[in-house]
Amino acid sequence: MKAILGHERQREALTRLAQSGKLAPTLLFCGMPGIGKSLVARELAQRLLCRKSSGALCGECEGCRLVASNSHPDFYYFDDANSESGDVDGIRKLLHSLTLRPYYSGNRVVILDNSEALNPQSVNVLLKSLEEPRPSTYFILITTNRTLLLPTLVSRCQAYYFDTLSEKDVRTLLQSQGLTGPLDELVAAASGSLAHIEDLKNSFPARQALMAKLERIVAGNMLEACSLAQELSKDKDSLAQKLQLLRLLAHQGMLGNSDPVTKRRWAEAYEIISSQDYALFERNLNPLALLTTNFCAIATPLGRSPQTDSHQLF
Ligand SMILES: [Zn+2]
Repeated sequence: MKAILGHERQREALTRLAQSGKLAPTLLFCGMPGIGKSLVARELAQRLLCRKSSGALCGECEGCRLVASNSHPDFYYFDDANSESGDVDGIRKLLHSLTLRPYYSGNRVVILDNSEALNPQSVNVLLKSLEEPRPSTYFILITTNRTLLLPTLVSRCQAYYFDTLSEKDVRTLLQSQGLTGPLDELVAAASGSLAHIEDLKNSFPARQALMAKLERIVAGNMLEACSLAQELSKDKDSLAQKLQLLRLLAHQGMLGNSDPVTKRRWAEAYEIISSQDYALFERNLNPLALLTTNFCAIATPLGRSPQTDSHQLF
């Protein structure tokens, strides 16, 4: 199972309740996507199905191994409640299985991930079953938005709220994934969740390409300055986003260079890129002309003042 970081308070409470046999039969895990709710639910399932002793989690017994490999006959995991398994027939089939004897004569655990995506018909069928909990059967509903669930469903659950991850935990998780690249930027951009990390990681090639262009401009390449101005001004919808990225990259260049002259050039690039938003987005000046002038100013030796808002261009 993947390592779980954070959520100590919730995990400790759940462990205590599982070990004392006082765990509520229907739990609801709420919190942002990408923070590990599903992993905590799986950890709890493993604890409930561990065959060594009640409420423990050895991680080695048949029960633990079968849960980890998603093949425990008394463990049901619906990865996406919106999929076929979460439709009303899937839920009916699940509930029918629960009327039969457990395979191992112990606990049974059902995890319904993305439970807000269950259709109303499925929820109604489910509600009937939750009204009369079966002994030793636990439901764990997971949602990123509790308000999308029917109040009648929420009222039958004991809710646990999960916070976003700390920057330290996000950093540790990213490092454990062998991530290379600007870790500081990713950690800051993640905002305590790994939900969009894949997107951020996927944008790396484009990011690196943009950085290479900026490096050439800072090194004095005028042709690159004109070419990048042309490229960016073509797509007005993504212009603001790309300029923001460019600003981050310039900042990265500034911090990553110890040579005073190079550092100064990056600082100037950062300043020029940061100062053009007003002209571009408030005054709606011509992007191609403005960007060409500014990128060329970045490419010129120190001492030339940037044209951030010059009327002489237009
Ligand atoms: Zn075990």
